[in-house]
Amino acid sequence: MKAENGWNDSEDLKGAVQGWADRIGVTVREVHLRDMRKKWASISTNGRLTLNTDLLDLPAALGEFVIVHELVHLLAPNHGRVFKSFMSAYLPDWEERQHNLQTWRM
Ligand SMILES: [Zn+2]
Repeated sequence: MKAENGWNDSEDLKGAVQGWADRIGVTVREVHLRDMRKKWASISTNGRLTLNTDLLDLPAALGEFVIVHELVHLLAPNHGRVFKSFMSAYLPDWEERQHNLQTWRM
Protein backbone atom coordinates (compact mmCIF):
# COMPACT_ATOMS: atom_id res chain seq x y z
CA MET A 1 0.00 0.00 0.00
CA LYS A 2 1.17 3.48 -0.81
CA ALA A 3 2.18 5.63 2.13
CA GLU A 4 0.75 9.05 2.78
CA ASN A 5 3.09 11.71 1.45
CA GLY A 6 4.59 9.09 -0.83
CA TRP A 7 5.83 9.30 -4.41
CA ASN A 8 3.30 9.55 -7.22
CA ASP A 9 5.21 7.15 -9.46
CA SER A 10 8.72 6.16 -10.55
CA GLU A 11 9.12 9.35 -12.60
CA ASP A 12 8.40 11.37 -9.48
CA LEU A 13 11.11 9.43 -7.63
CA LYS A 14 13.60 9.78 -10.48
CA GLY A 15 12.86 13.50 -10.69
CA ALA A 16 13.80 13.82 -7.04
CA VAL A 17 17.10 12.07 -7.77
CA GLN A 18 17.92 14.64 -10.44
CA GLY A 19 16.92 17.50 -8.17
CA TRP A 20 19.19 16.27 -5.38
CA ALA A 21 22.07 15.54 -7.77
CA ASP A 22 21.91 19.15 -8.99
CA ARG A 23 21.78 20.45 -5.45
CA ILE A 24 24.68 18.30 -4.22
CA GLY A 25 26.66 18.87 -7.39
CA VAL A 26 27.15 15.27 -8.47
CA THR A 27 26.36 13.53 -11.75
CA VAL A 28 23.94 10.62 -11.85
CA ARG A 29 24.31 8.91 -15.21
CA GLU A 30 21.60 6.30 -14.85
CA VAL A 31 18.78 5.60 -12.41
CA HIS A 32 17.33 2.12 -12.25
CA LEU A 33 14.48 0.77 -10.18
CA ARG A 34 14.41 -2.87 -9.31
CA ASP A 35 13.53 -5.32 -6.57
CA MET A 36 16.42 -5.50 -4.14
CA ARG A 37 16.26 -7.98 -1.32
CA LYS A 38 18.54 -6.60 1.31
CA LYS A 39 19.03 -2.93 0.67
CA TRP A 40 17.22 0.19 -0.36
CA ALA A 41 19.71 1.36 -2.94
CA SER A 42 23.22 1.21 -4.29
CA ILE A 43 25.41 3.49 -6.35
CA SER A 44 28.52 2.87 -8.42
CA THR A 45 31.44 5.27 -8.44
CA ASN A 46 30.56 6.31 -11.99
CA GLY A 47 27.10 7.45 -10.94
CA ARG A 48 24.85 4.52 -11.73
CA LEU A 49 22.13 4.55 -9.09
CA THR A 50 19.87 1.58 -8.39
CA LEU A 51 16.84 2.11 -6.17
CA ASN A 52 14.64 -0.55 -4.59
CA THR A 53 11.14 -0.42 -6.08
CA ASP A 54 9.80 -0.74 -2.51
CA LEU A 55 10.81 2.91 -2.02
CA LEU A 56 7.73 3.82 -4.05
CA ASP A 57 5.63 2.59 -1.11
CA LEU A 58 7.45 4.66 1.51
CA PRO A 59 6.90 8.24 2.62
CA ALA A 60 8.91 10.53 0.35
CA ALA A 61 10.92 11.83 3.34
CA LEU A 62 12.43 8.36 3.77
CA GLY A 63 13.10 7.95 0.06
CA GLU A 64 14.82 11.32 0.06
CA PHE A 65 17.09 10.13 2.84
CA VAL A 66 18.01 7.06 0.76
CA ILE A 67 18.68 9.21 -2.32
CA VAL A 68 20.82 11.73 -0.47
CA HIS A 69 22.73 8.94 1.31
CA GLU A 70 23.63 7.33 -2.02
CA LEU A 71 24.51 10.59 -3.75
CA VAL A 72 26.74 11.69 -0.87
CA HIS A 73 28.68 8.46 -1.44
CA LEU A 74 29.91 10.05 -4.67
CA LEU A 75 31.67 12.59 -2.42
CA ALA A 76 32.56 10.32 0.51
CA PRO A 77 32.83 6.57 -0.11
CA ASN A 78 32.49 5.40 3.50
CA HIS A 79 30.30 6.44 6.43
CA GLY A 80 32.95 8.45 8.26
CA ARG A 81 33.09 12.00 9.49
CA VAL A 82 33.12 13.58 6.02
CA PHE A 83 30.08 11.58 5.00
CA LYS A 84 28.17 12.64 8.11
CA SER A 85 29.00 16.30 7.68
CA PHE A 86 27.72 16.23 4.09
CA MET A 87 24.54 14.49 5.26
CA SER A 88 24.00 17.14 7.94
CA ALA A 89 24.56 19.89 5.40
CA TYR A 90 21.97 18.58 2.96
CA LEU A 91 19.49 16.86 5.28
CA PRO A 92 19.82 18.28 8.81
CA ASP A 93 17.38 15.66 10.18
CA TRP A 94 18.99 12.71 8.39
CA GLU A 95 19.59 10.73 11.59
CA GLU A 96 15.90 10.85 12.45
CA ARG A 97 15.00 9.78 8.90
CA GLN A 98 17.53 6.97 9.07
CA HIS A 99 16.01 5.79 12.31
CA ASN A 100 12.49 5.95 10.84
CA LEU A 101 13.62 3.97 7.83
CA GLN A 102 15.28 1.31 9.96
CA THR A 103 12.13 0.87 12.04
CA TRP A 104 9.75 0.99 9.07
CA ARG A 105 7.39 -2.01 9.04
CA MET A 106 8.85 -3.42 12.24
ZN1 LIG B 1 26.12 4.01 2.66
